[in-house]
Amino acid sequence: MRLRNIPGAREEIQASPYCIQDPASYKGRWPALFQNQNPIHIEIGMGKGQFLMNLAKLNPDINFIGIEKFSSVLLRALQKMGEDPLPNLFFIRMDAEEIAEIFAYQEVKRIYLNFSDPWPKDRHAKRRLTSRQFLERYRRFLSEDGTVEFKTDNDGLFEFSLLEIEAAGWKLNAVTFDLHNDTELNQGNIMTEYEERFSSQGNPIHKLIASRI
Ligand code: SAM
Repeated sequence: MRLRNIPGAREEIQASPYCIQDPASYKGRWPALFQNQNPIHIEIGMGKGQFLMNLAKLNPDINFIGIEKFSSVLLRALQKMGEDPLPNLFFIRMDAEEIAEIFAYQEVKRIYLNFSDPWPKDRHAKRRLTSRQFLERYRRFLSEDGTVEFKTDNDGLFEFSLLEIEAAGWKLNAVTFDLHNDTELNQGNIMTEYEERFSSQGNPIHKLIASRI
């Protein structure tokens, strides 16, 4: 998702109290930001933040962090937070390639990846957020009992992700090729913006849950 360039977006992001400007300075001390010891769940590539905002409202005892690389998209999330602030949700503008620099060993309990960019060319495979290169980054800060939860409607990306999880030595805990018709996995499902769009077009949604051991 990339919206047209919005003049002043960078300045507005820098001034926002909901956006962490120097995330590396919180490495190993994120509880200080939230002022509690609650578990930390993150979404990488959160777009305009609908999923995380709904999740954070329903789960006040979990701390959430949304990561998005494009200012134009992140700005929408910050504006929505301004209308309805939540104490357990913050955002970061960054490319997730640097994500292991901002979280310490075992600091994150869950990683959500929703409708991640497919990067269809083979030579771009390592940019996919479920590639073995990204799984190796996640291994460095995901807690031992932590999980990665991934949803997509993209068949090729989903099959690639299943293979990468196996190749990286991760464990597959659950998988469905049709989330909305899977009574167990769909329980409590919160739709993302892309999920609403693609499922309304009739695309089945795939989901997997994986852990690092
Ligand atoms: N998760 C949202 C949803 O399901 O509605 C948005 C999905 S959109 C297709 C993917 C988002 O991931 C885009 O906003 C894109 O900018 C962001 N993204 C892709 N690669 C990223 C990366 N390496 N680091 C941070 N954000 C990334």
